[in-house]
Amino acid sequence: MRIVITGAPGAGKGTVAGILQQKTGMVHISTGDLFRENINNKTEIGNMISGIISSGELVDDRTTFKMLKEKLNSISTSQGFILDGFPRDITQVNLMKFLTTIDYTVNLSVSDEEVVERISGRRVCPSTGKIYHIKYNPPLQDGIDDTTGESLVQRDDDKPESVVRRLEIYKHSTYPILAKYDSMGLLLNIDENGMSAEEIADVILKKIS
Ligand code: AMP
Repeated sequence: MRIVITGAPGAGKGTVAGILQQKTGMVHISTGDLFRENINNKTEIGNMISGIISSGELVDDRTTFKMLKEKLNSISTSQGFILDGFPRDITQVNLMKFLTTIDYTVNLSVSDEEVVERISGRRVCPSTGKIYHIKYNPPLQDGIDDTTGESLVQRDDDKPESVVRRLEIYKHSTYPILAKYDSMGLLLNIDENGMSAEEIADVILKKIS
């Protein structure tokens, strides 16, 4: 099974995709995580795009496509995959056919108020990228990653100025891809409606199996 998971920033795509990966063996591939890995490893791409990512703007299509294609070519996806963060707009939907076919696009639907609460409380481990939320998914010890013991940080692009820009880009560029996938008969809309990430993952699994 090959699925795209989409939704507004803070909709919980990464968390839900991580749970789906654990439960099914499908590989979670996040373009945002791949970019952040490049930044942490100070690669050529990483140095080129770090300013763009912190400001909340999108990276150019050519760089994004090349990075994702290399990733898909370098890993085994025999159990399927969950693509998180791509496509981001209609141009990228059209580029998809040069990358892979997909079976479903799962949209996590969440209110604007919820988005703000989720993002402002989100903290990550700087080396592994593991995601916490100060209220909904806190670490065992305040501010410390459960596994590595490192201090958790707030992503630069989770700071208020960048969040406003990411939401604008989402509404203007990413939201329209839903109609496109709907017209292709591939859209699964999940209203999060206060469900936990585990419950959302279960709903998705039920619908796709
Ligand atoms: P995310 O973790 O999906 O919120 O992505 C973090 C940031 O990575 C985004 O704000 C963009 O700057 C960049 N990014 C991730 N995926 C894409 C994509 N498909 N196209 C362009 N930029 C992307």
